[in-house]
Amino acid sequence: MTKDHVEIWNSCLSVIKDIVTVQGYKTWFEPIVPLSLTDNVLTLQVPSQFFYEYLEAHYIDLLKTVIKRFVGAKGKLEYRIPVDSTNTFGSITLPSANRNFPKNPIGQPAPERLSSGPINPFVIPGLKKLQIDSQLNENYTFENFIEGECNRLARTAGMRVAKEPGKTAFNPLVIYSGTGLGKTHLCHAIGLETKRLHPEKTVLYVQAEQLSTQYVTANKNNNRPDFINFYQMIDVLIIDDIQFLAGKAGTQDVFFHIFNHLQQNNKQIVITSDKFPSDLQGMEDRLLSRFKWGLTADLQSPDLSTRTSIIREKLHDNGITFPEEVVQYIASNVRNNIRELEGVMNSLMAQSLLNKKAVTIDMAQQIIDRFVRNTVKEVSVEYIINIVCEYFKITPEQMSLNTRKRQVVQARQIAMYLSKKYSNASLVSIGQQCGKKDHATVHHACKTIANQLETDKQFKVMFADIEKKIALS
Ligand code: ADP
Ligand code: MG
Repeated sequence: MTKDHVEIWNSCLSVIKDIVTVQGYKTWFEPIVPLSLTDNVLTLQVPSQFFYEYLEAHYIDLLKTVIKRFVGAKGKLEYRIPVDSTNTFGSITLPSANRNFPKNPIGQPAPERLSSGPINPFVIPGLKKLQIDSQLNENYTFENFIEGECNRLARTAGMRVAKEPGKTAFNPLVIYSGTGLGKTHLCHAIGLETKRLHPEKTVLYVQAEQLSTQYVTANKNNNRPDFINFYQMIDVLIIDDIQFLAGKAGTQDVFFHIFNHLQQNNKQIVITSDKFPSDLQGMEDRLLSRFKWGLTADLQSPDLSTRTSIIREKLHDNGITFPEEVVQYIASNVRNNIRELEGVMNSLMAQSLLNKKAVTIDMAQQIIDRFVRNTVKEVSVEYIINIVCEYFKITPEQMSLNTRKRQVVQARQIAMYLSKKYSNASLVSIGQQCGKKDHATVHHACKTIANQLETDKQFKVMFADIEKKIALS
C-alpha cells in the first residue's frame, strides 16, 4: 500500500463536493467511511444496502471518474455494509458497477444483481424500495375479533402494540394457542391497525414457513445479505406459526440476527406459536430466551359467552337468525376451537338459506357430529391420564393414590399440566380426576412442570414424548 486510503478518499471527496449539491453530498457522501485500499481496490463502508444501491444508481459515473483519477487506471471500488450493529456477521462486500473499470466503458449498465429487481417477492416492483405488500388479510380486524375472557390479555396487548409499535414492553409480543383459536386473525388485526394508525410504518406479515423457504432460496442464490437487509428494514414484523422453524437451524440463525437488529432499533416483532415458547422442541435456546424479553400471551379455548358472541356476530354479519335454543346448543357443544365453530356455522347457515327453513337443534346436532365430535372426544382429562399412566407404566388407580413416590407424583403433575393445556376442564375438575386434589394443587403442579421444562433438558425430552402421544391422538 503506497497511499493511504483515507487520503485518497479525501481527494475523491474534494472533487465530488464541487459537483454534487450540498444536500446530496451531506446525505450520500459524508456517511461513507473509507476502509482500505488494497491491490487498487478502494473499499468504502456505507450504512446500508439501500445506500449502496442509491450510490450505484445515481453517482456511479462520478465515482468512476474520481476512482480513475485518484486510485489509477486499474482502480476498483467495493462497498462494505455492516449488516448487524453487533457485528455478528461482520460485514458484507458488494461489488461496484465499476469493479471492472477501466475495461468497460463508462455508462455501462449496472451489473445484473442491481437491475434484477428486489429479492423479496413482496416488494411491489417499480415502487420505492420501502413500499412493500404487507400481506395482510383485510378481513381479520380487531373489530371482528370478538373479545372474551379467553383472549383479553392477548387482544389488549395487540392493540397496545398497534398503537405504539416498538415502544411498549411487549416486544416481542408472542401469541400462543392451540390451532383454530385466533392467532392468525389477531396478528393480522395488529398489522392492519398499525397501518391505520401509522401509515408511514412498514408492516410485514409472513408465515414462518414462507420465511424459511425464502431463506433457502436466498442462500442458494447467494443472496443471504439481501435477505437479511430486507427484513431488517421492516418496522413491524409479524411472523406467524414460528413453530415451523423448529429444527431449521439455518433459518433460526438468520432470524436471530434479524430479531436482534429489529429489537435494538425499537422495531416491533410479533410472533405466533402453537406452543408455549419453552415447549418448542428443536428451537435454539438463544432464540427462545429472546422471546422472553417481551410478553407471551395465550389465547385460550373460548368460554361460553365468547362462543355465543361469535355465533351471534356471524349470524348478524350474514343477516340470518337462528332460534335462540339453537344458538345455545351450538355454543354449548362446539367448545374447543373457533375454526370448528365457524365451520359448523357456515354449514348451518348454508342449509338454512338453501332449504329456506328454520334451523333446528336436530340439524345442528347432525352437523356438529360430523364436524366436531371426532376431534373433541379424546382430549378429556381421562384420556390424558391414560396416556401418562401408560408412559409411566402405572395404572390410573395407582396415580390417584396418596403417595409421595416420585414417579407417581411426577405422573400426576404431568397429567394435571397436560389436562390444563389440552382439555377444557377447570382446575377443580382436573384436580378431582387426578387423585381428588384441590385446584391449588393443580395450580402448583402446573407451575412445577413449567419450571422443570425450563430448567431440565432431560425432562423436556421426556415430556415432549408424552405430549406427542396426545397430539397424535
Ligand atoms: P389459528 O391461527 O390460531 O389457528 P385463526 O386465527 O386462523 O386461528 O382462527 C380460526 C378462525 O376463527 C378464523 O376464521 C378467525 O377469524 C376465527 N376467530 C378466531 N378468534 C376469533 C374471535 N375472537 N372472534 C371472531 N373470530 C375469531
Ligand atoms: Mg394460524
